[in-house]
Formats: sequence, C-alpha cells, structure tokens
Amino acid sequence: MFNNKKFDGNKIKYAIYYTLIVLIVIVLSNDYIKNIKTDYIKYSKFIEMGNQGKIEDIKLSKDKIIIIPKEKIEGKKRTLYTEKISDEQLLVKLSEWSSKYNTQYGAVSQENSVSKNILINLIPILIAIFIGRMLFGKINKKIGSGVMSFGKNTAKIYAENETGVTFKDVAGQEEAKESLIEIVDFLHKPERYTEIGAKLPKGALLVGPPGTGKTLLAKAVAGEAGVPFFSISGSAFVEMFVGMGAARVRDLFEQAQEKAPCIIFIDEIDAIGKSRDGNISGNDEREQTLNQLLSEMDGFDSSKGVVILAATNRPEILDKALLRPGRFDRRVIVDRPDLKGRIDILKVHSKGVRMSEGVDLSSIAKSTPGAVGADLANIINEAALRAVKNNRKEVIQEDLEEAVEVIIAGKEKRDRILSPKEKKSVAFHEVGHALVAALLTHTDPVHKITIVPRTMGSLGYTMQLPTSEKYLITKEEMIEQITVMLGGRAAEEVKFNTISTGASNDIERATETARNMVTVYGMSERFDMMALESISNKYLGGKSVQNCSIQTAAIIDEETLKIIKYCHKKAIDILKENKNCLEKIAEKLIEKETLMGDEFINMVNELKNGNN
Ligand code: ADP
Ligand code: MG
Ligand code: ZN
Repeated sequence: MFNNKKFDGNKIKYAIYYTLIVLIVIVLSNDYIKNIKTDYIKYSKFIEMGNQGKIEDIKLSKDKIIIIPKEKIEGKKRTLYTEKISDEQLLVKLSEWSSKYNTQYGAVSQENSVSKNILINLIPILIAIFIGRMLFGKINKKIGSGVMSFGKNTAKIYAENETGVTFKDVAGQEEAKESLIEIVDFLHKPERYTEIGAKLPKGALLVGPPGTGKTLLAKAVAGEAGVPFFSISGSAFVEMFVGMGAARVRDLFEQAQEKAPCIIFIDEIDAIGKSRDGNISGNDEREQTLNQLLSEMDGFDSSKGVVILAATNRPEILDKALLRPGRFDRRVIVDRPDLKGRIDILKVHSKGVRMSEGVDLSSIAKSTPGAVGADLANIINEAALRAVKNNRKEVIQEDLEEAVEVIIAGKEKRDRILSPKEKKSVAFHEVGHALVAALLTHTDPVHKITIVPRTMGSLGYTMQLPTSEKYLITKEEMIEQITVMLGGRAAEEVKFNTISTGASNDIERATETARNMVTVYGMSERFDMMALESISNKYLGGKSVQNCSIQTAAIIDEETLKIIKYCHKKAIDILKENKNCLEKIAEKLIEKETLMGDEFINMVNELKNGNN
C-alpha cells in the first residue's frame, strides 16, 4: 500500500493508548478486589465471636482462618480473617461451637486458593483486553477496512435533521436563492411535480469563489425545506485506501434514500470530480469514487425527493460526465457580492452585535469591493473585538473602519519605528499615489492616506474607494490605474532623485495590469483583439496561461513595457508640475501620519488655487 507510514504511525499511537487503558483498568480493579477481600480481625476477637455464636462458617487454611459471620456488616455478607496461631484448644472450641451454634468448619485446600488468586488477577486483565479490543478493534477497522475488507458503513457522514439556517441568513445572493427556491418547493411537495410528470433536476452545482456562502446556501436549502441534510466533503471521499471512497458514496446514497426527502451535499466536489482525462499520474481511487458517484446519481430515483447539491470553486476542472443532464445539470453561480449585497451581508452579521446608532454600514460596504461574505463576517467580528478591547459597550464606526484595514493590510504596528528619513520617503511615496489619483480624471477618489506601518508588511498605503460599483473598466481607466500605481515611485524620484525598494508591490501590480491589457483585454494596437492568455481557476484568483509562441511572448513583454514606460513618465510629469503640492501635503502627512480623503482633497484644491 502506498502511504503505509501513516497507518503505522496510527497503529503505534493506538497501541500506546491501549496499553495505557489496560494499565489503568488493572490498577483500578486491583483496588476494587482488595476492597472486597477480607477484613482482618484479631484472634481474640475471633474467639469472642465464636463464643457468642456469631460465626456461620470457618475455613482453615495453612496460615489463615477465614471467618464468615452470621450477621451482615453494612448490609453485606463480609468475610473476615485472622492469622492462624498455634492454639491447641482451637479444634475443641470448633466442635463446641458447631454443636452449640451450628457453626460449620473445614479446611481450604491450598490449590483452590491459588487458582482463585489467579482468577482474581486474571479478571481485570480480561476486562482490560475486552475493552481494549472494543476500542482498538474499532479503530483498526476504521483505518484498515479498506484494505482488509470492503467495510460497510464506515463513511463519515454528517446528517443534520435541522440545519437551523434559512435563506434569511444568506444575504446578497438573490439570483442563487431564486434558483434554489424551486428545489425547496420540490422537497416540500414532490407529488405536485411528479403528478404532471415533470422531472426535477437531480443535482445543482454551486459555483463561486471561496467564502461567498456556498456551504451556507446548501444548508439554507435544507433548512427552508425542513429536510435532513447529509453533508460530506469531497476530500473525505478520497482516502488513501482503495475501495473506501466508492464504499462511502454507496453508503451515503443508501442512507439518504432511507431518509428521503433529504438533501445530499457534497462540498468541494472538485476533490473527486476532477476530469479524468489528461491525468497522467492517474488516481485509481479517485476515479473509482467518481464512477461510483456517477452511477449512483443515475441509479437513484429523484421522485422520492433526494436532491444532490455540490459546491466547487473550480468548475472548469470537473469531469464532463458530472455536468451532463441528469446529473449536476444546474449551475448556481454564487459570485462575489456587489455593493448592495455587501450591505445586506453586513446587516445580517451585525444582527447579533450591539452597534452604536451612528454606524453606517454602507460606507463600510463601499470600502470593501471584492470582499466575500466570509470577509465581511470577519470584519464585523474584528470590529466587535476592537470595541471590547477599548472597553466600549457597542461597536462604533471607527471600529468597523479599523477592522476593514486590519483585514486589508494587517494590524497597525505602531512599535515599528521608522527613521525620520524613511518616514519622509514613505510619506512622499504615498502622497505621490494620492496626488496622481487626484489629478487624473478617470480615477477613484482617495479615501485615506496613512504612513502607519501594518503587520502585513506595508509601511503605509493610500486607499482609494470607487464611488460606485464598476463592472466594466475602460482602457483610459486602466492606464490611469497604472499611472497611480507608479505614482509612488515617481514621487520618490521627483523629490529625492533616488529610488528605494518600497515600490515592489506597486510594480508587480502595475505590470500585471499592463500585461492583462495586452494579452487578455485586447487593448494593444499591436495584437488587436487576439487572445494571448486564458485564465484558469477563475474563482481562485485566476492564474493565466499563455497560449502563444515564444516569439509572441517576447513581443508581449515589449508591449507591456511600453505601457509601463508611458504611465511612469506621465506620473513623473504630473508630480513635477505639482511639486509644491507634493511637498506641502507630504509635510502634513509626516506630521499627522494619517490624512482622510476630504482633508486631502481640500488641501489639493487650496494649494492649486493658490498657485494660480
Ligand atoms: P463557501 O462555502 O462559499 O466557501 P461558506 O458558506 O462556508 O463559504 O461561508 C463562510 C461564512 O461566511 C459563512 O458561515 C457566513 O458566516 C459567511 N458568509 C458567506 N457568504 C455569506 C452571505 N452571502 N450571507 C451571509 N453570510 C455569509
Ligand atoms: Mg464551503
Ligand atoms: Zn506604493
């Protein structure tokens, strides 16, 4: 087997656990047995008891006398013992008691007591072994059943009868909800659909970037329909032992059909549903699992009310067979929320949080373009934490704004001391960005400039906020975006006539934008509208793949460089022209460390008017 190591490691771990359990049981049961063993009494007490006729039975062993009294002690028949001393009178007394009080007496054979001793010591060990077997055996089966046997019912399936989530908890995904409402209705009254003869979709595939609420939506469907929810993660199917994944799929469908109507939710289905072709390494296990899934989806009767939902952020790698009609024939896009969606999501998550009256969630939503539901939930929580930290009873706007910045740029790092020279350099850099943005026409307004270092590595940053949500960007806008990105470095050049390492991130982003203009958006004259790159993993950041010859790639580089050079020059020109502005605002920034957007714009306007 491959990956034997893991198995061995587990085995050793469990062997240790097992040994520990055995030891504990032995210690405990020994204690117990000692307790039920006999209590010691003095010989004189024994004689006294005998004389009073309180003894029922006496057993003589080699060195002990075992006494069973007639009376119960603490409601139980206890056994007493005393050591044997050479008492010549003993036998006489015994026969006397026997006739007087009917006390029985006799000897215990040595053998008997030895075997009893062994038995007494053996019992706890047997118990321990039994318990150990139960535990260890189970674990063993869990790890190994794929190898030894095609184990049944080992699938880790999470069935919830009530998910407790409804569509109200999912905000900003109206289109997705709409497509899912039909499924809810179907689960409510399957007869209505089957009567007409309508075939309902067996499965719907939720597609979108991570954190947009796919898992949440699936739960909400179950919650709305009030049906059980079987969820399993794709990666849970793919185990290292052959046969397991397929067995799990089988189990899952079996269990689900018993509980119909219900929802089966396969999260991260790309883990098993990867396209089978073009896979040189070949993963038999995954392929078997996928095949099993395909055949189960064909085999089950959807009129009973079993609906399969699956989620993925990499739809393009899914096997075509999964997507054909009769399987996951419906796609529900769960995309990044727009402005309104973000406001709604913030509202949903701030419900359980005490917010101050003046909180403006829409401005927070505005400052977080591209954020997904999980980010926004996180922002609300960070804000609440900050409020607690500052001993406030409710969350105020400032908490939320700071939370946004923490998510974007990391925590403030006030203890990182910049030398005055560095601080000056950072200030000019940031004002460079801001000023270029302010003086160009197609750019987003500046929201904030700061030179307080953050934990995620930035020494300062300029935050621009779009006035409205944009879905299309023009060529002019892109050029100006690049110009703003290069404005930081340009300011350093204009002011100090030297350059620093501080612009690396700007350069990276500017280059990427310029390259995309050439290769993806058809914005260069040279290549016109020729596609030179395709984007894979659209929902996971989108890595682009070049599809052109090496010669063309070299020309792409040239074209990209041309754009960069043009923008760089433009930024320098703007800043040279407004050097006075640059100096004054940078000075102010050094003094105050943070400038808000309106403060900044006021300064720009004043200085420019003063110039004229
Ligand atoms: P995905 O499965 O798409 O990666 P999840 O459904 O696991 O994302 O979302 C993670 C968390 O983010 C949710 O538990 C929820 O708190 C929050 N969240 C995400 N999207 C939304 C949304 N549209 N409305 C409300 N909360 C959301
Ligand atoms: Mg998920
Ligand atoms: Zn910069």
